[in-house]
Amino acid sequence: MARSVIRFADWSLSVDLSGSGPIFESECTTCGESSGTADEKEGPETWCLRHAGRTGHTGFRGITTSFFRAQKVGDQ
Ligand SMILES: [Zn+2]
Repeated sequence: MARSVIRFADWSLSVDLSGSGPIFESECTTCGESSGTADEKEGPETWCLRHAGRTGHTGFRGITTSFFRAQKVGDQ
């Protein structure tokens, strides 16, 4: 992910790369069933196709969780 920084007063917010990377998940918008979480989006996307084949449900919600860290400016 591109490094972006948002500043507000003495605080800045940036993507936190110290722990987990983004987490991906797919949810069926018909029945609410979930693919479970994964470190890459391929698994949850493949799950959508398997779920469509198994149930006939065709609508899905893709959820990406990213992590941010707030830091006092000048407090490296
Ligand atoms: Zn479903």
